[in-house]
Amino acid sequence: MIDPFGRKISYLRVSVTDRCDFRCVYCMAEDMTFLPKAEILTLEELDRLCSAFVRLGVRKLRLTGGEPLVRKNIMSLVRALSRHLATGALDELTLTTNGSQLARHAAELAACGVRRVNVSIDTRDPAKFAEITRWGRLDQVEAGLAAARAAGLAIKINAVALKGVNEHEIDDLVAWCGDEGFDLTLIEVMPMGDIGAENRLDQYLPLSLVRARLAERWTLEEIDYRTGGPARYVRVKETGGRIGFITPLTHNFCESCNRVRLTCTGTLYMCLGQDDAADLRAPLRRSESDELLDAAIAEAISRKPKGHDFIIDRRHTAPAVARHMSVTGG
Ligand code: SAM
Repeated sequence: MIDPFGRKISYLRVSVTDRCDFRCVYCMAEDMTFLPKAEILTLEELDRLCSAFVRLGVRKLRLTGGEPLVRKNIMSLVRALSRHLATGALDELTLTTNGSQLARHAAELAACGVRRVNVSIDTRDPAKFAEITRWGRLDQVEAGLAAARAAGLAIKINAVALKGVNEHEIDDLVAWCGDEGFDLTLIEVMPMGDIGAENRLDQYLPLSLVRARLAERWTLEEIDYRTGGPARYVRVKETGGRIGFITPLTHNFCESCNRVRLTCTGTLYMCLGQDDAADLRAPLRRSESDELLDAAIAEAISRKPKGHDFIIDRRHTAPAVARHMSVTGG
């Protein structure tokens, strides 16, 4: 699959549910309305869709959400998709999780061929963690991390940089990740979805600033390391650990974008920061053969836009797109 700008599409991110057991203040409003069950693809349909993408050239699949591990029976999808690892059609099957259910699932994930997971933790202060996630408990996530480590999964911590909230703890996160052998990715907050009373401008902390501050304490060495994502990495000389910077606001990397995003209703978004989307559920359900589906995927890829244009400043505090991050899973 090659898009109109010559970019090869080899990475599919799949939001398997829009539901989550946390309500992170930058991600969701507290009183979210979730999709009715009838709208949502079954796990068998998700498997068929993902498998079509693998057949068409996707080499990396990431399950996300909402919270992927709160979807009932999600491990049956992971087990089913792992067949593509076994045949060599897929290089990587992974997931992004808040870690709350990882203690239950880490061993089976590893057994299915998952090699690494991204776990989102913005702070290591239990009270602040509860404040940011509204409903989350840090000790539960830490138990998940311990289980993931015991299962042999490599762990990358995702942290959204939030002005006045965790901005003075990022040093601690760097030290902790260094000690634990975790990679760390820092993310700029993106203007997606109405999040209630919270104001994006109050949350937004440019990573250019964070990086400059980190450089006062740590020696940050430029490295070529890539995971197929938009993060640009440095090595922290003192800890040996890596820090990735995802900077959709201060510097986007759309020119090397290799991904598309599928929602749990079978809607394909060709760009995280644009509204254009393609419905794959109708062609999926219309026929048992994949011809209509393949044609709809090809048509969607031919419409992949050049990039997004997120802006957060005094004149732009409204969402750039109406949907929340939980719809497409970041
Ligand atoms: N529940 C899983 C988790 O917590 O990682 C997966 C879904 S969550 C939407 C994926 C990632 O998106 C998390 O790291 C989360 O912090 C991040 N995220 C959510 N809303 C965001 C926003 N508006 N801007 C930047 N990152 C956001």
